[in-house]
Amino acid sequence: MSVYDKYEVVIGLEIHAQLSTKSKAYTSDSTEFGSTPNTNISPISLGHPGTLPRLNKNNIEYGVRLGLAVNADIRERNEFARKNYFYADLPKGYQITQDTTPICNNGYITLFPNSSQERKINITRIHLEEDAGKSIHDQDPFHSLIDLNRAGVALVEIVSEPEIKSAEEAAEYVTQVRKLVRYLEICDGNMEEGSLRCDANVSVMLKGSNTFGERTETKNMNSIRNVKRAIEFEIIRQIDLIEAGGKINMETRSFNAADGSTFLLRSKEEAHDYRYFPEPDLQPTHVNEDYISKVKDTLPILPNDLYKKYTSEYGLSEYDANIIVESKPFALYFNEICNYTKNYKAAANWINGTVKSFLNKNAKSIEELTFLTPKDIAEIIELIDSGKISNTIAEQKIFPAKVSGNESAVEIAERLNLIQESGSDALEDYIKQVFEQNPSEVERYKNGEKQLTGFLMGQLMKVSGGKADPKKANQLLREMLT
Ligand code: ADP
Ligand code: MG
Repeated sequence: MSVYDKYEVVIGLEIHAQLSTKSKAYTSDSTEFGSTPNTNISPISLGHPGTLPRLNKNNIEYGVRLGLAVNADIRERNEFARKNYFYADLPKGYQITQDTTPICNNGYITLFPNSSQERKINITRIHLEEDAGKSIHDQDPFHSLIDLNRAGVALVEIVSEPEIKSAEEAAEYVTQVRKLVRYLEICDGNMEEGSLRCDANVSVMLKGSNTFGERTETKNMNSIRNVKRAIEFEIIRQIDLIEAGGKINMETRSFNAADGSTFLLRSKEEAHDYRYFPEPDLQPTHVNEDYISKVKDTLPILPNDLYKKYTSEYGLSEYDANIIVESKPFALYFNEICNYTKNYKAAANWINGTVKSFLNKNAKSIEELTFLTPKDIAEIIELIDSGKISNTIAEQKIFPAKVSGNESAVEIAERLNLIQESGSDALEDYIKQVFEQNPSEVERYKNGEKQLTGFLMGQLMKVSGGKADPKKANQLLREMLT
């Protein structure tokens, strides 16, 4: 047994999700990403004396959407608080947040949904707050630059209970949160651009212990993979340190993506005293049952609902259903195909197979698939189901032609002369030709070598130029051989 097996890992995650509201949390400044630095800033964002914040109602709505989606308790009376600290990219000298009255408590995120590994991770709280500006340290060799466009952009912070047990589970937790906020359309979930950020609290304790070890908090992971790497590093570092007789200190660490390590940012002694106090410039906001049920009525469809629909109503396999619900645009595209065909299984095969591999190969997203509409896919499926073309022809001839032109599937099939022969007269002619050309094989078949049907079918496809409907042809061939 390795020393690492003696320990149990405890992880709690704090996720900040930037809300995709058009204007900031407490002002009408634009939130557009990538604007010229320091252009989306009004005196309110900058905290000039005498300016007053005003709550963007959408923050509340987005918070409620998230709360409903994770089965949380939603708070009626929402108060705001000032969290005070001094930092160059925080012009006001404080953030407006929710301290003692988070908009949501409880609720859970489901890991590995619909699988044997399924497990719920409880959520402690979800609260509304605002972002700080951004300090840029890598563009000028002598100075740090500051962009305040982000100052005041609305955030939700989702805090999990310390129930996550491994780096894999942590990665899955972030994956599920990101999927959810995207489905809910409250955050674009883009970790590279910092719209979704994750801080990982990690501790270890001897197996069977009921006292948690001291934890560290690691920041600055800009991808799910890096969340996993940072936690893996932290687990080993902490166990090695304890095994060497050392002690874990409560501290904030940062992740170095270049070598996968974490390093000390500040220790507990340097921790801020945020001197929270109620925000005097904002009234408490009331969220009543009536409002909550209105938001509930407009809640977008969620991955788990879709999964249930696909597996029970559409009869898809769990595997296919899981792949489709992975991304909302993908699921919407699939739903749209199903508006035009009832062959759901074929629709699933098409988008999980041919379409997906095309997108992967060409580094395209499904939103860029404008030349191939869901209706086109349904049309191709219809051609196959009515026996006019084979699946192979559809994949190898029709699909590529759709990609490069704007004819309909039927037009392509006709122009390329791909429509299968399923009329008995035409098929009979082909079979007669095959018999004439291969008399000895026909003789051997009649003497009991039944496996020769494969060979004769091959000859038939050759004679017909691949256009014989294989099912019908096979049937007719057997009939004519007896
Ligand atoms: P803080 O305000 O200092 O960040 P919180 O109480 O909000 O502290 O907790 C932050 C996160 O740390 C939560 O996600 C929680 O689950 C997690 N956490 C608390 N104790 C531990 C521990 N011993 N090991 C791992 N994670 C922990
Ligand atoms: Mg924290």
